[in-house]
Amino acid sequence: MKNECVNFPELNHQACRLKPHERIAADYFESRGLVVERLCTVKSSENTPDFRMVNDEGIVYICEIKKPLSPMGNLTKQDWLYTNLAEFEQWKDEAKKQSAQLIVTVEQLKLANGEIPYSDKVRNTDLKEKENANKIRKWTAESVVANFPVTVAISRNDTFSWTESELKEFTNYLIENLILIGNGQMPNGWVVSLHTINGNYKKKRKDGRYIQNQIQVVLGGEKLSLDVQYSLGMNWEAIEENSRKAQKQIKSQLHHETEPEKVIRLLVMFLEQDLYFQHFSEIDKLEMDINRRILQKFPELSAVAFCTQPFSPINFMVFHTSSGNIPSLPKNIFDDAHSLQFPK
Ligand SMILES: [Zn+2]
Repeated sequence: MKNECVNFPELNHQACRLKPHERIAADYFESRGLVVERLCTVKSSENTPDFRMVNDEGIVYICEIKKPLSPMGNLTKQDWLYTNLAEFEQWKDEAKKQSAQLIVTVEQLKLANGEIPYSDKVRNTDLKEKENANKIRKWTAESVVANFPVTVAISRNDTFSWTESELKEFTNYLIENLILIGNGQMPNGWVVSLHTINGNYKKKRKDGRYIQNQIQVVLGGEKLSLDVQYSLGMNWEAIEENSRKAQKQIKSQLHHETEPEKVIRLLVMFLEQDLYFQHFSEIDKLEMDINRRILQKFPELSAVAFCTQPFSPINFMVFHTSSGNIPSLPKNIFDDAHSLQFPK
């Protein structure tokens, strides 16, 4: 790999060092036949992008790599406010039960009153969901069904964060019905299809919305194994903010190119979690969302490529712009037998 930093020996290039995910991307593009150059980020006050790449025909690609914080999870502002207030009410109830005085910090009070703004950057709802899944696993493992030879798959169909009591209530429902199944009975409203027993948990929340879970039970195995799948959706605020920055960085490099109108502009985004799909229609929706929220909003980009599995074989989901005003990314770059490209 070439490195622009060697042209500026007098500068400190600490900030130009490749991060692991940037190295993965650079290695990938080299394996695809591009000559990759690391651009120096400290040579000027410009917003320099990560890589300038050239193919054997002399076509230039400018590439920016992003790894947004909390790219998944679109907990709404209402959910944030609701959760904070619900937590506060719970503390109040507990204090009341113990006839104790409620002691809270100024921050906790402000949070409950909705006076602390909801950060767009670090929502971490994906981490919260992982925590919730672990709690369900822990509580069932501590219950009487722990040694039942069944495999349970739970699919979450809502995008809001559960309260602790909602999670407990659901887990109790699950345990009760697994006990019934263990006794050879069919829980009310559940159905058998082929080798699976399917249940549907629906519960109205205080805010009027419904918690909805599909539960799938398969008999067999040594003891209870439990998997929770959830599809939180994308945190579009984080994705858009990163795309906006990337476009700015790519544009600033175009001024240094002799034929900027021919330069291909590529954004690569690393995501912490797989884009999980149950249905093909969800891929269609994702494609529409990416067109609307990235490619149309940031029309200088030729394509955006998402990577959720930075392991071998590395693969990408690549979305090409439909705009005829900027050079399109040649499809052969990601034609590696593992990546998916849209439109097809
Ligand atoms: Zn440098």
